[in-house]
Amino acid sequence: MESDAVRKRVFRTIEKYGLVKNGDKICIALSGGKDSACALFLLAKYVEEKNIECEIMALHLNLGLGESERVEDICKEQAARVGVKLESVSVRELGIDLREIAREKKRAICSVCGVVKRYLLNRLAREKGCDKLATGHNMDDFLVFFFKNLLSKNYFWISKFRPKVEGAHEKVVCRIRPLFFVGNAETELFCRENAIPYLQSPCPYSRTDVVKVRRRKWYEMLYSCERFQRNFRYNLARSVVEMSGFFERGEAKEFRECRICGEPTNREICAFCRIRLS
Ligand code: SF4
Ligand code: ZN
Repeated sequence: MESDAVRKRVFRTIEKYGLVKNGDKICIALSGGKDSACALFLLAKYVEEKNIECEIMALHLNLGLGESERVEDICKEQAARVGVKLESVSVRELGIDLREIAREKKRAICSVCGVVKRYLLNRLAREKGCDKLATGHNMDDFLVFFFKNLLSKNYFWISKFRPKVEGAHEKVVCRIRPLFFVGNAETELFCRENAIPYLQSPCPYSRTDVVKVRRRKWYEMLYSCERFQRNFRYNLARSVVEMSGFFERGEAKEFRECRICGEPTNREICAFCRIRLS
């Protein structure tokens, strides 16, 4: 697949699923990696080419891990290349030390980090007046999640495997995933061919975390199926989106506001506040 084919596929996804419209204010989460960079470039290109009146801002969470300053610099470069304003938020300045929390709670750092990122991205995007939050999750990520949820009979989550997921609560910002139909190989090729700067591994833990190491095995499985059957991943992703409609989203009524911070949660105290309680 060439980089122009990636562009066309992403543009088709944006159009077919109504990811962008006039008057939108979209926040894109930038990690410094190839996926979020590709999503940023193609979203900005789409808005420009189609002459859509829509504001795009980029948001980067400086996680305070390893090379965080270098990661932030790459995000600045990426945002500057497309003329989008970047806001960097330091989680340490918010009083969050991921390593310390992971140590105290005896949890894997990636699981703590995941809770913090989900919480802050939603909250900050909403507080900045954005009505959509774009992420760089790609097709391979969704296919791996799909298989894992299928094997653990966790069918409910499959209802979220779509390029656009409306917020199930007024405080949950609508998620858009422009890369839903392009995988790791394609986003890497797109960045390379367009000389877009990105970090190979934005975080030191991405190589050692056991979940991430296992995920790479899943990717290998997907790519070996692709060698055997052309377009295996793309066709499977299209089936997953159709299938997602069969699974009811019964979560809206269960949402309430966290007793401590007021953010949406399905428990009395949200996951973010729970990891911060000693
Ligand atoms: Fe966070 Fe783990 Fe990703 Fe690093 S590898 S950014 S710790 S989730
Ligand atoms: Zn809370």
